[in-house]
Amino acid sequence: MTAATITAYIGLGSNLADPVSQLKSARIAINSLARIEELAFSSFYHSPPMGPQDQPDYVNAVMAVATDLAALDLLRCLQKIEHEQGRVRTGARWGARTLDLDLLLYGDQQINHPDLIVPHPGIGERAFVLYPLQEIAPALTLPTLGDINQLIAHCPLAGLKKLA
Ligand code: ATP
Ligand code: CA
Ligand code: CA
Repeated sequence: MTAATITAYIGLGSNLADPVSQLKSARIAINSLARIEELAFSSFYHSPPMGPQDQPDYVNAVMAVATDLAALDLLRCLQKIEHEQGRVRTGARWGARTLDLDLLLYGDQQINHPDLIVPHPGIGERAFVLYPLQEIAPALTLPTLGDINQLIAHCPLAGLKKLA
């Protein structure tokens, strides 16, 4: 990595076609990308669906990486992995999917691009993001949102369970 290396956090989620295997495959695929190195990977968490309730529960995790990819290039790589793992975009917001990879944080940057908003909107209210993020980054301060522990203190588990 170069002097431009950034620590980024990626949120992983799946609720179709063996979610734990989907997340394990995605971890391998992310590690196979050029110019990315894994720094940490959280436990797997089980969580009830957001949005439409007539879909299976999710498995979620958060991964920290060091990268010198530009944020948009990283997003495109993540979208390619989603596609390769059979993600079908049905148009239904928050519908069931084999794999969802969200770019949660990219260093301390704030990004407002038509295709990319960072910090990812909703981080502050989502237990399935905050708890795994705190597990791997217990002293993190998020741009605009502040101390991870303060965010957790205001975010009920809402059915989130760490998998054994
Ligand atoms: P949510 O973003 O609320 O978690 P979702 O993950 O189901 O919902 P998607 O259908 O996966 O949403 O993505 C919709 C669009 O969000 C994508 O086309 C992408 O360009 C955009 N997007 C904006 N910011 C981000 C980000 N930080 N990470 C991933 N996608 C993002
Ligand atoms: Ca998402
Ligand atoms: Ca997404």
